[in-house]
Amino acid sequence: MRSFVPAYELVSPEGLSNALDLLAREPGVWKPFAGGTDIMVLLEAGKLTHRNYFNIWNLKELRGIEVSAAEITIGALATYTEIQSHPILRDEFPMLCQAASETGGLAIQNRGTLGGNIVNASPAADSPPALLAYDAELELVSTRGTRQMPYQGFHTGYKQMTIRPDELLARIRLPRTSKDLHHYYRKVGTRKAQAISKTCFAATARIENETVADVRIALGSVAPVPLRCLKTESVVRGARIDQDVIERAKNEFAGEITPIDDIRSTRTYRLKVSLNLLEDFLRQLPMRLG
Ligand SMILES: Cc1cc2nc3c(=O)[nH]c(=O)nc-3n(C[C@H](O)[C@H](O)[C@H](O)COP(=O)(O)OP(=O)(O)OC[C@H]3O[C@@H](n4cnc5c(N)ncnc54)[C@H](O)[C@@H]3O)c2cc1C
Repeated sequence: MRSFVPAYELVSPEGLSNALDLLAREPGVWKPFAGGTDIMVLLEAGKLTHRNYFNIWNLKELRGIEVSAAEITIGALATYTEIQSHPILRDEFPMLCQAASETGGLAIQNRGTLGGNIVNASPAADSPPALLAYDAELELVSTRGTRQMPYQGFHTGYKQMTIRPDELLARIRLPRTSKDLHHYYRKVGTRKAQAISKTCFAATARIENETVADVRIALGSVAPVPLRCLKTESVVRGARIDQDVIERAKNEFAGEITPIDDIRSTRTYRLKVSLNLLEDFLRQLPMRLG
């Protein structure tokens, strides 16, 4: 059943400081409305329980993609279209651009924001695994100031996060990667576009002297939160890839992810495909297999 629209309130504060004042005056009462692509689905389905929103789409302080020598800073309101067309993001963070290009269709890519994808906190979202594999950092703002935190650990349980009721997600920072980083991203869904992932795998690795000098592996749709697989990484880090390392990594990985049965897929399928993707990632690393 559709929602009764007059029961909802949407205000448009002018400028970031007025928006933060509104949040500080009545924490928990007002929630941000960015692109609205998640919020409007709930509204249409009659499932939008929260009533008061403030429009942040026009807050220029949350826009833009800035490049410095050490990092790329992406405004929370950056859309998927902006992300995938940014030359340095395409060059150095191809998995984030691939996630953006495989999120929804063109209309969603023009309107949906990276900040909204993070705070909507769906474990099936497509950008979070790439952000985890790139060691992203978040910048949160409130009238009390700014705080930075690693993205890893931001999601604490299903739809639970460490953002406070008076805070906005302002920026996402990505430490710039070295040219020799190997990137591997696969979204597995029913169709190429307009499909929610059954599993989503993102990993990076750096190879030195025929061994894995560094590795990061992250997944969506296999746990209550977007998951970084630290135990699996520790099997692979420092190793030369051979069949034994692949088997040990797969064993660790099978214990680390907790896929479920739901309307999109089954636990068995998600586990099998995720294991296959891990093996494919390891086998494609640019080194001679031992
Ligand atoms: C047809 C369709 C297809 C889709 N396909 C995909 C897909 O393939 N992959 C995928 O991952 N997602 C998909 N989505 C989901 C959605 O488009 C994304 O999650 C999008 O990035 C949400 O951003 P938004 O700006 O629209 O968020 P909104 O709907 O505006 O907000 C979502 C939530 O985040 C909060 N929020 C937004 N911005 C901030 C901020 N700066 N600080 C604090 N809180 C904030 C809001 O209060 C709300 O709770 C799809 C949606 C639709 C309708």
